[in-house]
Amino acid sequence: IKPCIAQKDVTLHILKTFGIHMSKKLGQNFLIDGHVVDGIVAAAQVAAGDAVLEIGPGIGTLTQGLAETGAEVTAVELDRRLLDVLNRTLEGYNNVKIVHGDILKIDISREISRKKYKVVANLPYYITTPIIMKLLEEKLPVEVLVTMVQKEVAERMVARPGGKDYGALSVAVQYYTEPEIMFIVPPKAFIPSPAVESAVIRCTVRPEPPVKVDSEKMFFRVVKAAFAQRRKTLANALKAGGLDKEAVDKVLAAAGIDGGRRGEQLSLAEFASIANAWVKHI
Ligand code: SAM
Repeated sequence: IKPCIAQKDVTLHILKTFGIHMSKKLGQNFLIDGHVVDGIVAAAQVAAGDAVLEIGPGIGTLTQGLAETGAEVTAVELDRRLLDVLNRTLEGYNNVKIVHGDILKIDISREISRKKYKVVANLPYYITTPIIMKLLEEKLPVEVLVTMVQKEVAERMVARPGGKDYGALSVAVQYYTEPEIMFIVPPKAFIPSPAVESAVIRCTVRPEPPVKVDSEKMFFRVVKAAFAQRRKTLANALKAGGLDKEAVDKVLAAAGIDGGRRGEQLSLAEFASIANAWVKHI
């Protein structure tokens, strides 16, 4: 029986044995609380027969919890120094494949051939948004993403129109998935302890978007422009956002949306009507 890696003394022992100093630059904060690992695995309902993509296995803490379920785990780690560590800490788990690479650069579908898989990760916080956006925009066959992120980022992902947390990330995440904050994780669950609280968020990928969008490209252009300058009115933000200035007022009128409102007040359905009116206009 292997010792559980998610313990402070075990983690420190592994780091010492391999002479590893954690890299702040790579967002290395390793979990040392087994309950948190179990909570993540349970939130993703990982079971034998599942395929799982893990991003940033570190020294294998969460990977071990995932592997124990019998699921097939593919874990992508950027830090070359950790490959030897992972080979050792996960020795004996024949259901784990470690891939060396940058999750933002690799071709994920080459690494996982399964028809459907789950993404489960304690993400490196310096690239949380690009990773989530890559997974969603590439329309990979992901059924659910269960990730540890900064609490403040989790709040932005689930935010509804009307508040300061609501922005382009909220719209994108809610367009592709149904996000839900599962639990909050205190800094002391990691070494080193991050300065902020964290949260585990579950984003269940939708079979269909919740609103009808004729051109996703236009939808996201409108969303980006609307939030790029939050203090401007919607009409002015769209005019400043690289969209055809002449068309803005006409398109807003056709969509039945008051240009004096702010982007942060608009629902997904309202962004969709602007984008759809725009497509009709051009
Ligand atoms: N899974 C481990 C845990 O829960 O203790 C480690 C999580 S740590 C927050 C993030 C991990 O992501 C680190 O191991 C780091 O080296 C790795 N990482 C950072 N940037 C990455 C990238 N671009 N692609 C893949 N892994 C990356």
